[in-house]
Amino acid sequence: MTLPEVKWQHGDDLCDCVFQRVGWWTNPYIGQTMEVRLCCMWDKLIELNPELAQFMRMIPAFDNYNTDTYEMEPRRWDAADHDMPRDIWYRQLATKTGKSLDEIRREYDHLEAPKGVKRPVPDFMPFLRSEAEREGLDITITDVA
Ligand SMILES: [Zn+2]
Repeated sequence: MTLPEVKWQHGDDLCDCVFQRVGWWTNPYIGQTMEVRLCCMWDKLIELNPELAQFMRMIPAFDNYNTDTYEMEPRRWDAADHDMPRDIWYRQLATKTGKSLDEIRREYDHLEAPKGVKRPVPDFMPFLRSEAEREGLDITITDVA
């Protein structure tokens, strides 16, 4: 077997599954790596064994685990620390428009996904920064929410 040219990774957009899930196991002492495209596999398993369909369901809403409610509208990108991943953006657009992922990829391939949202630094952060600098500490403040 030859080595793959493309690694399968979560969010690689190499399939049309709504939730891409890639199982990955590797071991340097065995000298083997196993990648399993679980998302595609369970669709195929259900196609071959329709009785398995009862064990999976897709719900057209976000199950907000903080409020225990379903949110029907896809949420606007609001992460502060990174831009919207392209695979998530494509699937959000598909949900909003009802178009296929192939159509979305063709229409949005040349555009940028939504950027991370810059948030103001809380009042205590400058204090922490100046204290750290005074002590000669190298600090990185992440996830300021
Ligand atoms: Zn898949």
